[in-house]
Amino acid sequence: MSDPTSTTSFLPLDVLFNNPLFAGGIGLAGLGAAAALARRSAIKGASLIKRRLLADVEISKQDASYPWILAWLALPRPPGGFVTSKLTRIHQFSMKTMAGAVPNKPKHTQFFLQPGYGRHIIRHNNAYISVNREKQSTANHTTGEPHEIITLTSLYAQRHIFEDIFGEAHQLAISAHEGKTMMFASRGMDWEQFGDARKKRPLQSVILDKGVKERIVGDVKDFLQRQNWYVDRGIPYRRGYLLYGPPGSGKSSFIQALAGELDFGVSIINLSERGINDDKLAYLFTKIPARTILLLEDADAAFINRRKPDAEGYSGANVTFSGLLNALDGVAAGEERIAFLTTNHIDRLDEALIRPGRVDVTVRIGETTRYQAAEMWNRFYGDIDHDGNGRKRFLDKLVELDLIPNESGVVKPKLHTSAAAIQGLFLFNKDNMEGAIEMAEGLIPRIYEP
Ligand code: ADP
Repeated sequence: MSDPTSTTSFLPLDVLFNNPLFAGGIGLAGLGAAAALARRSAIKGASLIKRRLLADVEISKQDASYPWILAWLALPRPPGGFVTSKLTRIHQFSMKTMAGAVPNKPKHTQFFLQPGYGRHIIRHNNAYISVNREKQSTANHTTGEPHEIITLTSLYAQRHIFEDIFGEAHQLAISAHEGKTMMFASRGMDWEQFGDARKKRPLQSVILDKGVKERIVGDVKDFLQRQNWYVDRGIPYRRGYLLYGPPGSGKSSFIQALAGELDFGVSIINLSERGINDDKLAYLFTKIPARTILLLEDADAAFINRRKPDAEGYSGANVTFSGLLNALDGVAAGEERIAFLTTNHIDRLDEALIRPGRVDVTVRIGETTRYQAAEMWNRFYGDIDHDGNGRKRFLDKLVELDLIPNESGVVKPKLHTSAAAIQGLFLFNKDNMEGAIEMAEGLIPRIYEP
């Protein structure tokens, strides 16, 4: 029996192909398919060639090398260093402006040219490199800034050029920071460099009581040489210092000078700062920038956790004492950690803080002593007070004002003054030691009744 559908369901093929409209359609479709195939093969081929012939390096904004590469790219290039082509807009730069205080000028401003977003072609040591700087659609969840990426592309055969570039960029970054101290502060959940790197503060410019500076500096240097000792004994490689004493006695200045001496930076967290809490503190401890001293200012803030709310309903810092201890003890802390805690109120601290690895050394940086007053005088007037007579009269005046003990050191003064106040007096009377002696009354602390 024949199939009843076989004759009725299909049109005979030759009828179809004899139809000019249909045949034309097939022809066009065939051409389209061939073109699509050719395009796909071309793309595949191009990406194969790209993979075989080109080498890419991607640098993300989160990586430490990102600013180095950006700075390297912004270097003035010799003639021919930039290549003009229809495809590239190589003269697109973006501007970075840094302002800072300079003596006798209201503001000193520096401008830096940075490669703008988009694609640039540069020539370096006879190799052509394509530089693509682009913003990503994702953003840093704490700062809200979009992620960025720089892609460097060169011929595969010339890929060694990347080593040169990274080496040069690193060297450039090192020389830019030579003689400077980098300062980092917490921003959101991240550390960020704040301000320009500061000129290193010489240790001699901070005058502490006799032997104090030497003791701390010696201890830190000793610690830095003993990494293996700690590792062999399975002890976390950390050392903590607590500096306490009245404001203006030189605690922060000393830490900055010490960092300069060790060629370290300083990473600062102010524990009384708004918005800082236990979780954030613990997280920041895990990411402390390498080769920096961690400075925890106002350590006592963790002990007066709940203050009276102010007008805006702010009830003080949210770091608790146990939060601070957890952060200090945390397992995820970096390779080496030198932490300095400072406070003006030692009485508010808890002795649980004084444990190896948390706080190993406690030093009082107190009211100015006779020794410090004399040393500060020497630093400011040493070159004009040849016979030391001015210094003697200044010290006698401070004894008279009951600010420092007499020469024998027997009578304790009833009042005291800070090194910051003495520095202020000397700065006001630059090269005028008589003026400084005359105005020494100004060093008596004033107590204002509210
Ligand atoms: P602290 O951290 O103890 O409150 P700072 O280090 O902030 O004090 O000092 C405030 C200012 O006083 C700084 O400009 C610093 O140069 C000066 N100063 C304070 N103490 C000393 C010191 N012992 N030697 C030299 N300068 C000092």
